[in-house]
Order: sequence, then C-alpha cells, then structure tokens
Amino acid sequence: MIQNLLALNWKMNKTPAEARAWAEELRGKLTANDTELAVMAPAVALASLAAHLPPGVALGAQDVSAHESGAYTGETSAAMLVDVGAKYAVVGHSERREYHHESDADVAAKARQAQANGLVPIVCVGEGLDVREKGEQVAYTLGQLEGSLVGVGPEVVIAYEPVWAIGTGKTATADDAEELAAAIRDALIERYGSDADGIRILYGGSVKPDNIATLCARPNVNGALVGGASLKVPDVIGMNDAL
Ligand code: 13P
Repeated sequence: MIQNLLALNWKMNKTPAEARAWAEELRGKLTANDTELAVMAPAVALASLAAHLPPGVALGAQDVSAHESGAYTGETSAAMLVDVGAKYAVVGHSERREYHHESDADVAAKARQAQANGLVPIVCVGEGLDVREKGEQVAYTLGQLEGSLVGVGPEVVIAYEPVWAIGTGKTATADDAEELAAAIRDALIERYGSDADGIRILYGGSVKPDNIATLCARPNVNGALVGGASLKVPDVIGMNDAL
C-alpha cells in the first residue's frame, strides 16, 4: 500500500511572512490521516516554513540546480535546500519547461543532483492540448518520462500534469489520470523492476477539495500536486481530509 502524497506547489506566491502566517493558520487544524502533506515553497520562504510548519508536514523546493556549487548566479543547490530542511524538489514543471526552456536532459540532470544530495525529486511530465487532441498523450508523456529519468534512481515521485488542465479549471477525468498513471507505472516497472511498486505517481491540474477524492481514487494515482488550491488553508484542510 503506497502512502498518498498531497504536494502543494505555491509557485511564485507568498513572501516569508505570508508563508509563516499560512503555517500558523494550519497548526492544530490537520486531522491525522495516512496522507503525507508537503509544501513546495519559493526558496526564500523555506527557512520561515521550516521554523513554523506543523510537525510532520514536509518541505520542498520548486526547482534545484543541476550543478553541485559554483559560478551559477541565481541558482539554488540541492545541498542548500537540504540544509534549510527540504525533503523534496520539483523538477521539470511545465512552467519551467516552457518559460525557461528546460529539456528532458536538463530535468534528468536536476533530478540526479537532487538524489545525490538526499532530496527526493518530484519529476513532472504531461502533454499539451495539441498532443491531447491528436490522441498521442501516452506516447508523448512516456517519451518525456524516459528522457527525464536518465540516470535517476527509484527514490523519486512522478507528477503527471496535463498542461491543458493547469490553472485552467479544466480537469482531466479520473479515467484520463489513471490511463497515464498506469502507463507511467508500467514504464517505471520496466526501468526499476519491483522498486517501482512503491513510487508515488501524482496527478496535477486544477485539483480542488471537491475533485481530489475522485481523481486520486484509482490504483495508480497516489496523490496530487496542487497549485491554486494550495494557497488557502481551508482548501488544504479540505483536500487533506478528502484524500
Ligand atoms: P493548478 O492546481 O493551479 O491547476 O496548478 C497545477 C500545477 O501546476 C501544480 O504543479
């Protein structure tokens, strides 16, 4: 039985002070359940969250450098993220692939660097609307997955986020999510053998308190990566309770 992961991706929202207020509002409101809750915060808010998050809530970054250290102005290393208390790092989010032209090879390099420092990478894959309309979502997404996992070990989380469902209010159906999650599971089994059984595969794209249970009910979907609905504490409580 795989433990569900509810991963909150704040994107470029919340100052350190706002992050602290969010963490304090969350305190005492989380019902204990089997879901792991993790917050992917802007790098400058991580220290504030590390000091104020309720016990048991994990911390993550939204990106990590592919390099160990050195002359890479503006980047944050995996060692820095571990030092500030992060457990996870999102890599290859579609917004980074699109706006920062990150390739599958870049994503794999970041994931390897994360693992080398003890961070668990959350590797994001997923097709755009053009691919979905041609019915090529499985082949496209598995191609991205292969390229993004070169040299990456099984201590990984995969997030399937169809780009057309991100921030649009258009959600995939539970069947859509399971179709891709099952295909991803098969590819992971081929790559990692029995180690793939414990790998969490998340769905992301317009997940909210009222659709999370349906979207994550299928055997191969083990939680969600949530953007917009992660910003308000009542929504987070709602999703945590529903999962
Ligand atoms: P929304 O939940 O806002 O659609 O964002 C999804 C996402 O990109 C999470 O990484």
